[in-house]
Amino acid sequence: MYKSIAVIAKASPAQVGDGFFIRRAMPGGGVGLGELSPFLVLDHAGPTSFAPSNQPKGVDEHPHRGFETVTIVYQGELEHRDSAGNSGRIGPGDVQWMTAASGLVHEEKHSKAFTQQGGTLEIIQLWVNLPATHKMIAPRYQEILASDIPAVPIGSGHSYVRVIAGEFQVSERSRTEKGPASTFTPLDVLDVRLLAGESLNLTLRDGDNTAVYALKGKVRVNDSDTVSEAEIARFDQAGDAVRLEALEDSTVLVLSGTPINEPIASYGPFVMNTSEEIRQAIQDYHTGKMGVLEAG
Ligand code: MN
Repeated sequence: MYKSIAVIAKASPAQVGDGFFIRRAMPGGGVGLGELSPFLVLDHAGPTSFAPSNQPKGVDEHPHRGFETVTIVYQGELEHRDSAGNSGRIGPGDVQWMTAASGLVHEEKHSKAFTQQGGTLEIIQLWVNLPATHKMIAPRYQEILASDIPAVPIGSGHSYVRVIAGEFQVSERSRTEKGPASTFTPLDVLDVRLLAGESLNLTLRDGDNTAVYALKGKVRVNDSDTVSEAEIARFDQAGDAVRLEALEDSTVLVLSGTPINEPIASYGPFVMNTSEEIRQAIQDYHTGKMGVLEAG
């Protein structure tokens, strides 16, 4: 049974740092904070063209606590470093899955090579909530390269699904492909590339929160409404299927996860369960308990 479409909404333009011109698909007018739990935020940066430069753009040092940031690179290259001692560079197809949990400080920048060469940057950043039992564990960092992510051909074979996290049930061959990301609650993150005229039948968990976001193109959903570039469709929890049919060559992100049914207290870069925990997070950040970045 199809999951019914609850809402289709347009992402809102905004800017993050000095180098990411984004469209925020949630939270916003169409999908409120927590309505797609465990997914909290979906930012789509670019595609934006940057001239060659000597000064890497991006977001300077800032903290996080209580959740995970997931960065998917479609075009361009990013560099990251954090106060837990992790650093890395991710390019097209790569994913950085950072568990901030008890807290860290990090910076997110265009890579030095990308800055010098210039080019087009396009990324997605998700915020994925953690259950209360895991909000204060030690930070963790997963660098997932494109070569680690299974790309499952569908239809003609030129369309495919990259399974970043969770699983994808390949109906044509009745088998399940799993993604490399380790997660704390059951969730699926699928990077779907569909050529015009091709379709995809997704089998999902009944009771999960599910959304479809179009980075590019236009897809018909469940044989009814269409989702165009920079639009998000959120579905009702009931049902176990979603069908996508590409009306144009399309790049679509599918998010589906078991809701974390706990209160959300959110303030800037902190997402906890209570306002007291938010006050504690602010104090811990200002007293250096989330660490500091060494001079870059
Ligand atoms: Mn950040």
